[in-house]
Amino acid sequence: MDHHMEHIYGTYDLTLVIFSYIVAVVASYTVLDLVSRISTTEGKRRWIWLLFGAIAMGMGVWSMHFVGMLAFTPSVPVAYDLITVGLSMVVVIIASFIALSIVGRRQVGLKQLLSGGLLLATGISAMHYIGMAAMQIAITYKPFYFVLSIIIAIVASITALWLSFYFRTGNTNGKKLKKVISGFIMGAAVAGMHYTGMLATVFHTGDKEDHLSGVLLDQTFLAYFIAVITLVTLGFSLFGIYLSNRMASKDSEMLASEKWYKSLFENNNDGIITVDLQSQIIGFNEAMSKLTGLPGEWFQNQTIDAIAPFIVEEERKRSGEMFRKSLGGEMQSYETAIIHREGHRVDLSVMNVPVEVNGEVVGNYIIARDITEEKHSKDKIQHLAFHDELTGMPNRRMFNQVLAQKIASRSGKFAVLVIDIDRFKMINDSLGHTYGDLFLQEVSRRLGQLLAGTNVMISRMGGDEFTIVCDSGDEHRDVAALAEQMIKVISHPYRLKESDFFVTASIGIAIYPDDGEDGVQLLKNADTAMYEVKKNGKNGYHFYSSELNEQLRERIELEADLRRAIAGDQMYLYYQPQIRAGDSQMIGIEALVRWKHPTKGVVSPGAFIPIAEETGMIFELGGWVLREACRQMKEWHKSGGPLIPISVNLSSQQFHQSNLIAFIKEILDETGLEPQYLELEITESMMMDATVSTSILNELTDFGIRISLDDFGTGYSSLSYLKLLPIHKLKIDRSFVRDIAENTNDRAIVATIISMAQHLSMDVVAEGIETKEQLDILTDYDCKKIQGYYYSKPLPAIEVEEAFFVPLRALPDNKDS
Ligand code: C2E
Ligand code: CA
Ligand code: CA
Repeated sequence: MDHHMEHIYGTYDLTLVIFSYIVAVVASYTVLDLVSRISTTEGKRRWIWLLFGAIAMGMGVWSMHFVGMLAFTPSVPVAYDLITVGLSMVVVIIASFIALSIVGRRQVGLKQLLSGGLLLATGISAMHYIGMAAMQIAITYKPFYFVLSIIIAIVASITALWLSFYFRTGNTNGKKLKKVISGFIMGAAVAGMHYTGMLATVFHTGDKEDHLSGVLLDQTFLAYFIAVITLVTLGFSLFGIYLSNRMASKDSEMLASEKWYKSLFENNNDGIITVDLQSQIIGFNEAMSKLTGLPGEWFQNQTIDAIAPFIVEEERKRSGEMFRKSLGGEMQSYETAIIHREGHRVDLSVMNVPVEVNGEVVGNYIIARDITEEKHSKDKIQHLAFHDELTGMPNRRMFNQVLAQKIASRSGKFAVLVIDIDRFKMINDSLGHTYGDLFLQEVSRRLGQLLAGTNVMISRMGGDEFTIVCDSGDEHRDVAALAEQMIKVISHPYRLKESDFFVTASIGIAIYPDDGEDGVQLLKNADTAMYEVKKNGKNGYHFYSSELNEQLRERIELEADLRRAIAGDQMYLYYQPQIRAGDSQMIGIEALVRWKHPTKGVVSPGAFIPIAEETGMIFELGGWVLREACRQMKEWHKSGGPLIPISVNLSSQQFHQSNLIAFIKEILDETGLEPQYLELEITESMMMDATVSTSILNELTDFGIRISLDDFGTGYSSLSYLKLLPIHKLKIDRSFVRDIAENTNDRAIVATIISMAQHLSMDVVAEGIETKEQLDILTDYDCKKIQGYYYSKPLPAIEVEEAFFVPLRALPDNKDS
């Protein structure tokens, strides 16, 4: 059946074959490059890249085939059906398009790779054989090579897609080289498919007589033409991809850094405003709205000057200046404050940073940080560091600082005053610390009020000690007047625990530079002057003088001596009888401590008891006195009486000592004295806190001990507690008795005390009776019980015994009772 058919044999143009291979390689490389572009772009641009890639790839593959076909010169001229040629090109472009869109996806699985490869292979094969069909010549195919060509197409396509997928990201040099090599391999595969396909082809003549009806082409010229055009096209494509890649990476870098900056701007905790040179606000962040309370819209179309009314008045001018400076290209940082839209103050730390573009200032960043809290705590710490927590007054540190400044400024003479509250310790001991604190606050308030508006600085040094620095005239008259005023305001009653309390103040004054050239010296000397006031009965002021220093030294010495005296045996007791006028019966006896100083002779308790109290030595001393007094009384009782009680003076500290009852019980046990023969002398001041003193007194009296209220009438305190407390005896203070003959007021007071005591069925004893006249007046008022020099001075035990007890014991009727 094919006897009239004639086989056609042709020759290959080797140059064209090589050319076709080059086209295949370049096309492959182009595709490998393209896929990465496709996979990294999105949206419309991706579609453009896809289309572009598909055309480049399709054209590349197609022109390889066509050039390869044209490289073959059949022995007879062959015409081409151009429509079919075109169709073959369209087919491969479509196939390329689909294949690329598959591998250009973000996620590519094996399934996609295989199906894409098969599709591409189908496209390429279809193109090839459609292209063959365009030859107007009879063709048959050898089945083996035909199948082989299709297998090659499939393998080549899948490999190509896999490679392109593999290469689609990254652009390192190693990858570039691999890409080139892959291009060569893929090119070989595509060319291999073609030439295998050609091997399968058998051309026939005769069947198609009209084979010249198609277009007869100048094969060689056309082949070169197509090859060159394709290569140029692909070259442009590659160049295009290259450029686009460069730009894309730059773009994405810029985009990324822009995003970074934007996020820095938008998410910043600091408020940021950007303004241009015309002060127009061109940007602001959320934090700025928060800081100011102004909504976002407010910043739009606004100049920075619109902020000004929100800046606190005192900072407005400076902030404006700073801003203008920064427009000049200088960074500024400063603190300011604004009023938030909701009305509260916000302290800001502001930085104005000029924005420079190409060396020219184009605007300004205003970066504002909220430092309200920070500032607040800083101020607070500052305040705490320089103020006293309890009273809010400046403290010692501040005082030292101000004093140092004052000295450094050489502003002339000034005075340092040290103020000490005379009975603060007693208030603190008897009312407790809470009331002690309240009391100090009240003192501070009064002093603060007195000094308000003056340039006098007052500070609290701790405890009940206040200091003042004030300018002093040459005569110190102003300073003295100030001291007097302070003493006066302090002496007004204090209402604490529903009772009125009275205190006094002792003030010592030192003058700069006469009494000291530095703070330490001035304070020390003012202190010395203050002690002088204390020594002289408190409640007053005193200027420092050099003699005072000598006295202070003595006091310090005395303190050391006293310590030794209490530990050693320099202490002893004197006893002073209490006598009933009329029958001269002894009704009691008071123990009074004496100190025989090794060099100074006998020191009176008035001189050392306060030292013992201040230094805490009173516990040891007082304990010794109690024990010795009880021992002596018991001895007298054992020696035949009389059975009278012994009175022992108690200091405030002893009275408030927590184990007082147990301590006394122990002493009574030890000495064997019955409780009813011990009488404790306490003073009104110890009764300040009725609730505390009531319970102490109740415990003492429940135990059988007697209580005597010493120095009665000097304590200012209210009399109402008298009826509440278990008190057995009142001792009218010596000061009322002293002038009783001349002073009618004193007489009236004494009369009142006596009748009150009688109403409350208390014993009343008058102290300090020295004369017959005083005695007569008192007995007239019905006060029969007397203690004083008139009957007897305090005497040593042995003398009391001989003068009073021995004669009593001799009386027969006394023995019976
Ligand atoms: P006081 O408790 O008021 O003691 C009475 C003081 O008046 C005693 O002074 C006594 O010698 C003195 N005196 C007595 N009669 C007369 C008189 O007719 N005229 C004058 N001008 N004075 C008279 P003394 O012994 O110097 O004691 C002074 C203060 O020392 C006592 O006052 C007392 O508060 C305290 N004191 C004495 N001994 C002790 C003690 O053992 N413990 C405590 N805590 N204080 C004591
Ligand atoms: Ca007494
Ligand atoms: Ca007294």
